[in-house]
Amino acid sequence: MKAVRLIEVNHPLQMQDVPMPTVAEGDVLVRIKASGICRSDVHYRAGKSPVWPLPLTLGHEIAGAVEQVGKQVTTVKVGDRVCLHYLLSCGDCYYCSTGNEQFCLQGSMLGHYSDGGYAEYIAVPERNAVHLPIEIPFDQGAILMCSSATSFHALRKSRLTAGETVAIFGAGGLGISGIQLAQAFGALDVYAVDINAEKLRLAEKYGAIPVNARSSDPVAEILRLTHNKGVDVSLELIGLPQTMRQAVQCLAVMGRAVVAGISDTPLEINTYQELLGKENEIIGTNDHLLQELPLLIEMTRRGKLNLSDAVTRTVPLDADVINQVLDDLEGFGGDVRTVIVP
Ligand SMILES: [Zn+2]
Ligand SMILES: [Zn+2]
Repeated sequence: MKAVRLIEVNHPLQMQDVPMPTVAEGDVLVRIKASGICRSDVHYRAGKSPVWPLPLTLGHEIAGAVEQVGKQVTTVKVGDRVCLHYLLSCGDCYYCSTGNEQFCLQGSMLGHYSDGGYAEYIAVPERNAVHLPIEIPFDQGAILMCSSATSFHALRKSRLTAGETVAIFGAGGLGISGIQLAQAFGALDVYAVDINAEKLRLAEKYGAIPVNARSSDPVAEILRLTHNKGVDVSLELIGLPQTMRQAVQCLAVMGRAVVAGISDTPLEINTYQELLGKENEIIGTNDHLLQELPLLIEMTRRGKLNLSDAVTRTVPLDADVINQVLDDLEGFGGDVRTVIVP
């Protein structure tokens, strides 16, 4: 079968002919119908986040149709539409058995440490294949598995309750899911902070109150809009120390700032004024859990999460085209969501 693979870091991905994946007794073979190209893949190709063993097929946002099942598989059958949870876990270790499989001692990840979705087929353990209802197209099912799931997990970590207010820093792919999910979780007002007018327009379309950080100080603006109270929850989805700090500074008393953006620059906080004096919390979030996906999918099926504007482009399984998409993501940090349709 065809697969577009990382052969060597800092080099373009290449198309290779590879053997069909072997299907163990507990595995399902999925014919890939959609595979999202994620910003993380840019970091993987550039060697900023280690990928092994090389060569490796990238792609961790995958949806498709079950083509074959192993002897022991009971929950999915041939022909089922599925989307794939990208974290591979053992199911037995301390972390798995306490419901936190993202810390699995033998954990792995599709398209990062195990062959991923830039290919025609993939084999995964049965529990990683989550049913995708007919109402959700494959391309949307694919991106649900990364950006939407990350926002969903971040909101759960925030302990957002009905009637609270939320500020979301970054109105890109994660942000648009975050805005809609926060409303579905019962948020009274959701403020979307960005410097991109186009993204803010989209955020407003989905019910957020736009805060343009290019033309105003977003902390002052949020305080003004909340009558000096601040917001109960903020999500930082950008990964800049400046926006992380703003996410803390715009909190009401007992507020929770959830940081999902990745940065290697230390975050400076005035601990008395900005943290302990108001009993605020800064919460880290990483990935998501398998157990969260069925609810996320059901909310999407019911239209509480609308991803119809989320996928802006589809491309074939072609190394040159995929490299160009990765170059574009790397270059102007645009937020187009491209999905490969093999
Ligand atoms: Zn991703
Ligand atoms: Zn485990």
